[in-house]
Amino acid sequence: MDKNKKLENLHKKWKEECESELKKTATQAVPGVGNANAEIVFIGEAPGKKEDEQGEPFVGAAGKFLNEMLGLIKLERKDIYITNIVKYRPPDNRDPLPEEKASCREWLSEELKIISPKLIIFLGRHAMNNFFPDLQISGAHGKLLIKPFKDVSTKYFFPLYHPAAALYDGSMREVLIADFKKIPKVLKEIEKRQT
Ligand code: URA
Repeated sequence: MDKNKKLENLHKKWKEECESELKKTATQAVPGVGNANAEIVFIGEAPGKKEDEQGEPFVGAAGKFLNEMLGLIKLERKDIYITNIVKYRPPDNRDPLPEEKASCREWLSEELKIISPKLIIFLGRHAMNNFFPDLQISGAHGKLLIKPFKDVSTKYFFPLYHPAAALYDGSMREVLIADFKKIPKVLKEIEKRQT
């Protein structure tokens, strides 16, 4: 079965089976979207208002900023796959609770297994801490992390500040853009390590 069909089936299954309490307040599920054969998967935190309305991740202001940054490294949304740790909008965009993250974790693991990317990029601390609970985003951003996990095909991870946090903070914005520009080099470094 082709990867797109597998993802379609996966999202259909989890929309029915996910037991998140957030289903009661969210408009709809916001599963990952993009290129099922992508080398890079971006993982954000949870859908916001626009994403909840449209059923797609990163379609609001943070998503527009992300598209601009992708342009800096000659990529478009159709080249990448993008998803969130949590698939339902938390009320008033509050931080997702540990049990809300846990209820969607298998959904995310199965997405990653199907796509099997070369590199996983965390957008913000929530995504990073889901895999690396002891790291601080202030120290880990812009650095390649190498660690094998049982349920993930790649061992290469690259944490970034969240585009929403950096949107209105000039210095964080500069750092995020500088980190983003490192992505092509990071991919080359991974290729070198794999040969
Ligand atoms: N912020 C996120 O982390 N995810 C989205 O989908 C939108 C904003």
